[in-house]
Amino acid sequence: MAEQPIVRMQKVNKYFGRLHVLRDIELDVVPGEVVVIIGASGSGKSTLIRCVNGLEPFQQGAIEVDGHPLKPGDQGSRDLQAIRREVGMVFQQFNLFPHRTVLQNVTLAPMKVRGTDRREAEETARRLLDRVGIGNQAEKYPTQLSGGQQQRVAIARALAMEPRLMLFDEPTSALDPEMIGEVLDVMRELAGEGMTMMIVTHEMGFAREVADRVIYIHEGQIVEEGPPEEVFDRPQSERTQAFLSRVL
Ligand code: ADP
Ligand code: MG
Repeated sequence: MAEQPIVRMQKVNKYFGRLHVLRDIELDVVPGEVVVIIGASGSGKSTLIRCVNGLEPFQQGAIEVDGHPLKPGDQGSRDLQAIRREVGMVFQQFNLFPHRTVLQNVTLAPMKVRGTDRREAEETARRLLDRVGIGNQAEKYPTQLSGGQQQRVAIARALAMEPRLMLFDEPTSALDPEMIGEVLDVMRELAGEGMTMMIVTHEMGFAREVADRVIYIHEGQIVEEGPPEEVFDRPQSERTQAFLSRVL
């Protein structure tokens, strides 16, 4: 029997005013799967993953995340709240709280949203900070860290909520080149541990290595999808070929 998907998108359509940004998106993600989304700037990649955790409402179709349905226009249902608790998100700009220490950045949501007591939240936070290689930076403030370290804090912060799914939107695009590797290493490890992940990235080498499936999106439509060997080495669509010839 096929595994139940953790994410199910059916005929999802999204508009910004008159701009049709997502067109009939059909996408299932099964537990443990790593899906990498590629495509040109403005093609709808961010909008797609932001719809998955309800950061963007959509107008038509249906999305289900871990059994919680999201319907068009949903702005605050219980299901939406449940989805936000279960889905971790890491952005290009790390979005850390600047006036909180690294440790506080990681403990805040578990304490506020889940009611975890401070001692337990701090214990978990220190373990996660160790895991992403910055256990010794816990008392610092975000601006005292490098970009690569800040992004690893952001990953630890997301993991502190014990997400069932992690979304990454160009997590290395704002980093100096020498710091990209350390963030990709953490993501690679997470993937290896079986985390379900949807990743928007321009790091094609990384995509080839960690993706179970690569999705190429053009003007809001999924034009091509498949295992990385197929999409990168034998792209079927001319659009995919043209895109890859520009970025590879
Ligand atoms: P990508 O992440 O692939 O670069 P986006 O999902 O950010 O693409 O954007 C898709 C399209 O939607 C683009 O044309 C962009 O200009 C437009 N767009 C994105 N966010 C908004 C918004 N909040 N309001 C209006 N248009 C938007
Ligand atoms: Mg984007």
